[in-house]
Amino acid sequence: MKFREVQGVQELSFLGRPAGRIPSMQNDTLLRVAGFTEGSIADGPGIRLVLFTQGCPHHCPGCHNPATHDPAGGRWISLGEISEIYEKNPLYAGITLSGGEPLLQAAALLPLARHIKERGGTVVLYTGYTLEKLQAKNDKDINDILRVMDLLIDGPYIEERRNAALSYRGSENQRLLLSVS
Ligand code: SF4
Repeated sequence: MKFREVQGVQELSFLGRPAGRIPSMQNDTLLRVAGFTEGSIADGPGIRLVLFTQGCPHHCPGCHNPATHDPAGGRWISLGEISEIYEKNPLYAGITLSGGEPLLQAAALLPLARHIKERGGTVVLYTGYTLEKLQAKNDKDINDILRVMDLLIDGPYIEERRNAALSYRGSENQRLLLSVS
C-alpha cells in the first residue's frame, strides 16, 4: 500500500459516494465499540458516520476520549447493525474508523471497510501508530485494512503540539495520508 501526505482538505474533495447496489457482508462479525457520531463533518471529507472503537494502548496525555481506553469497556455490535446505521443516511460520503485504537480490531474491521467501499463510500482511519510503525509490524490484518483505506490520519495525539486550526487532526505531528495505490 502507498500513501501520499496532503497538506489541505481541498485535496480530498473528490472523495465522494456514488449510488450503488448494497453488497453482502458477514453481518454477524462483532466489534467492540465505544459509540458513534452520526453526521460528522469534522472527521474526514463530506458527511460521515464515525465509529469509535473500544480499547487503546497509547494513553496519550490529554486524550479527549479516555473512556475508550479500556478494551473491556464499551459494548459489542455486529457489522450488520453498523451497516444498518450507515444505510439510514444516503448523504453519507463514507465511514470514519476512530477510537480508541481501531487497529486492535483490524481483522473485524476489514469486512466493514470493504463493504463501505463496495457500497461506493470512502473509508478514513485514525490510528495512534505512525504509518512507519504499522509497516514495520508487517501484520497481515493491518496490511489488508491499510490497502482499503482512502485516508489515514496517523500518529498519537501530542498535547504540546495541539493545534485547533488543523482540519481532521488534533496535533501537528499527525498527518493526512492519502492512499495512492
Ligand atoms: S490514540 Fe487516540 S484514543 Fe488513544 S490515547 Fe491517543 S488520543 Fe486517545
